[in-house]
Amino acid sequence: MSKLRIATCSLAGCFGCHMSFLDLDEQLAGLAEQIELDRSPLTDIKHLAGDGIDIGLIEGGVCNAENVHTLREFRSRCRILVAVGACALTGGVPALRNGIPLAACLGEAYLHGPGIEAAGVPDDPELPLLLDRVYPLHEVVRIDHVLPGCPPPAAAFHALLTAIIAGQPPALEYALRRFD
Ligand code: SF4
Repeated sequence: MSKLRIATCSLAGCFGCHMSFLDLDEQLAGLAEQIELDRSPLTDIKHLAGDGIDIGLIEGGVCNAENVHTLREFRSRCRILVAVGACALTGGVPALRNGIPLAACLGEAYLHGPGIEAAGVPDDPELPLLLDRVYPLHEVVRIDHVLPGCPPPAAAFHALLTAIIAGQPPALEYALRRFD
């Protein structure tokens, strides 16, 4: 049986969901016999290999133009797309900025906040523009499955992946459906 190809990425996330995936510890060795990592912060692969990605795991919400581009690329190339963690599901803690005008956020970060020297909002064209607010993934693309939690427990990743490997619909038991 060929291995499932998995890609992962962090958009407006903190990498904590990836760390929780790594919390699978020795179970990763078992999974490694059945999955193969494509583009991911855990590999050095810079671009998705093609259209043949079986599962895309995305942590983080969508906060800037590059996030939108990356998310759409994952959606177009991954057969199954999974929103991983509270940020991907709802925007999470970064979405606390949604009630504040973007100009005020930038002003606090770069112009008026404590400890600022050489005030000025970065405007290099290489920098992705921030969106007006932080969006959950499902407001940008279709999502197939979700892993709730901040972060989801390692066992939730295992349950999801083993179900998909077995050709079963993922169904998280109650104890694995946490939101904190
Ligand atoms: S859900 Fe929590 S752990 Fe995951 S990226 Fe967001 S803040 Fe980090």
